[in-house]
Amino acid sequence: MHHFNYRDGELYCEEVPLQKIAEAAGTPTYVYSAATLTRHFQAFDESFRNLDHLTCFSVKALSNLAVLRLFANLGGGFDIVSGGELYRVEKAGGDTRKVVFSGVSKTEAELDYALSKDILMFNVESEGELELLNRVAAKAGKKARVALRINPDVDPKTHPHISTGLKSNKFGIEPEKARAIFRDFKRYASLELTGLDCHIGSQLLQMEPIMEVLSHLVELVVELREAGLVIKYLDLGGGLGISYNNEQPPLPAEYGREISAVAKETGCTLILEPGRVIVGNAGILLLKVVFLKETGAKRFVIADGGMNDLIRPALYGAYHEVLPVLEQAASKNNIVDLVGPICESADFLAKDRPFPMVKPGELLAVMSAGAYGFVMASNYNTQPLPAEVLVSGKEFHVVRTRQSYEHLLASERIPEFLLKDRG
Ligand SMILES: *Cc1c(COP(=O)(O)O)cnc(C)c1O
Repeated sequence: MHHFNYRDGELYCEEVPLQKIAEAAGTPTYVYSAATLTRHFQAFDESFRNLDHLTCFSVKALSNLAVLRLFANLGGGFDIVSGGELYRVEKAGGDTRKVVFSGVSKTEAELDYALSKDILMFNVESEGELELLNRVAAKAGKKARVALRINPDVDPKTHPHISTGLKSNKFGIEPEKARAIFRDFKRYASLELTGLDCHIGSQLLQMEPIMEVLSHLVELVVELREAGLVIKYLDLGGGLGISYNNEQPPLPAEYGREISAVAKETGCTLILEPGRVIVGNAGILLLKVVFLKETGAKRFVIADGGMNDLIRPALYGAYHEVLPVLEQAASKNNIVDLVGPICESADFLAKDRPFPMVKPGELLAVMSAGAYGFVMASNYNTQPLPAEVLVSGKEFHVVRTRQSYEHLLASERIPEFLLKDRG
């Protein structure tokens, strides 16, 4: 369910024609629907209503300040993976005491910063991190709340680049090692063990691996309690998939019901870290066709945005539906590659796709681009980062201006010794 629909042959976001947004903000531009973001967050959160829980939106999926503020207003917490993301949560007006901090490479400065903001817990991924956090907390005269991220060695049955809970992945701690750490936890005088954590991957389309992991974690909670440890939080991570191309992921209601039924018996507060499922279908990338081009082998629709704006097709071979803003059916005879301006053959947004007969100047909407879209955009080929627009009903707001050339170069310097050689 989302709020991007045709009305009288023209694509709208909520009550606003995309054409109007392109005129005001230019292209390429990411457009997000506030109604969709709200609805998805609430549907997800409400599916866990039968148990004590906290929904921590995964900031890395879509980190614009306005979007984070929207979730903060809905009472959401946040899952972060860097000090920069914590700074975003702070600046967005989010409650830093509802933040969980994941990631394998947290630095001393990041740990210290997060500790100073009294975050809910650190999801620790290695013994090295435990040692460092213990030292940082001792120095600050504080106790850091810790969950251990368990790597359960369960195959999430998703794309290898986004699977994170296999032995061969860099994430988490193996159960056996985790047990040894728990037994000896008293040695970390400045850490308080409060939870177990897990995140097995993204774009998960089946309940089975999720439930398998949950049952491992529940067993471990029981075992640790018997050993006298206090485990308050059970963090199941994120990963629930969405439909890009007729996939049929579990609905949030089913996900919530099945997990709640099993997690309830632990009496833990459940933490969820959804990203994609909340924002994926709430955003599109609005582009303009620049040229059409035919070679002996192929037809190309060349747009003003490409892998620099949305890297998922190039990176994972991901599928995104592409719709013309002025409605017309795709022609069975018009099979095209939709490509962008970047000087790489991987710069495509769609491949061998039946396409409408578009002309230069026409607008296209790359659908389901809300998650891992803007956040992975780059300045490759010195292309400015695109604008971001948030729509709410009849209103729309530019929530990130398009990067200017000046802004693009703002942090670069030519050192004195090179300036001298000018002659
Ligand atoms: C990326 C990530 C998430 C969110 O994943 P989605 O698939 O977008 O739901 C949650 N937790 C952790 C630790 C992550 O790295």
